[in-house]
Amino acid sequence: MATTVITNISSLVTNDPSLGEGPLGLIQDAAVVVDGDRVAWVGASSKAPATDNRVDAEGRAALPGFVDSHSHLVFAGDRTAEFNARMSGQSYSAGGIRTTVAATRAATDEALEANLVRHIREALRQGTTTLETKSGYGLTVEDEARALRIAAAHTDEVTYLGAHIVSPDYADDPAAYVELVTGAMLDACAPHARWVDVFCERGAFDGDQARTILTAGAARGLIPRVHANQLTYGPGVQLAVELGAASADHCTHLTDADVDALAGGDTVATLLPGAEFSTRAQWPDARRLLDAGATVALSTDCNPGSSYTSSMPFCVALAVRDMGMTPDEAVWSATAGGAAALRRDDIGRIAPGALADLALLDAPSHVHLAYRPGVPLVSAVWRRGVREV
Ligand SMILES: [Zn+2]
Repeated sequence: MATTVITNISSLVTNDPSLGEGPLGLIQDAAVVVDGDRVAWVGASSKAPATDNRVDAEGRAALPGFVDSHSHLVFAGDRTAEFNARMSGQSYSAGGIRTTVAATRAATDEALEANLVRHIREALRQGTTTLETKSGYGLTVEDEARALRIAAAHTDEVTYLGAHIVSPDYADDPAAYVELVTGAMLDACAPHARWVDVFCERGAFDGDQARTILTAGAARGLIPRVHANQLTYGPGVQLAVELGAASADHCTHLTDADVDALAGGDTVATLLPGAEFSTRAQWPDARRLLDAGATVALSTDCNPGSSYTSSMPFCVALAVRDMGMTPDEAVWSATAGGAAALRRDDIGRIAPGALADLALLDAPSHVHLAYRPGVPLVSAVWRRGVREV
């Protein structure tokens, strides 16, 4: 396997404090050696070993590829009109998901896959090298299993979200829908997924229903993650921590007890500022979580209804501007934080043995991700050792 050195990196985020300065393990004037799909060496440019190939970063900054640990990309259709109405003064409710459910059910496998691939490529161009995605727009046994099968062909991080909303077919009998989600639908979906998720929210699933669904998924080997406390206060966050979920996602409305639970448990708090941006909602308070000692991840929640952005740099900028995060914290949360939310130690860092996933920025430092919001700074991306952008 040919080795490649990427040299003359002005500032390298390794996320490994043993390799450089501070929590980001920053190295100035750095080089990275890639061997196959892995990082083989990291250090000062002047000390880089001889390799087969050489890439000159020409003074650009580099950081680990973004880890987007929360998206909903197996869908069809468009909700421009809903967004436009909301921006004209109507409030968002979870019911808008039904529009996408109808379009997704009507779409062919080929159309769903093409749409997924288009969004994965769009995210990759913005530096995202690992992307979790979910079912949740089928809500029948066949349509949920099909979504997961399509997703699993393109990412290892696939989440069963049959419990996105109660299927419109079961509007009069939500208990029967929970039985389906924990029975025949789970049987069909578990082989294609790594995670099980529930939208625990007023208008979706309550705490008891969420517990039943997550417990059933866990019994089939799926690891829980939870849509929790997005629109209102509720039981989702504490349920996630109690059940050992990898992540509680949204965390917008938190009591002190919720914050304490996240700080004291192993569950990552994944914040999704694109959702608050796109619904003009209250920002999650990242500062409060970080000061309490919780692990915080940032993710896009990319979906056609409430957060139609695939841009992790945009989320970093929002987190710094509106959620009390420092640029260093936001960059960590968008890389190493996402890896923690997916319980992965082979991504989200640039260190010997890690997967060779990295992005170069047309900027001298990672701070420019927040300093220059909306500017397409990502100029090159390696994923699993292959130059993709
Ligand atoms: Zn979501």
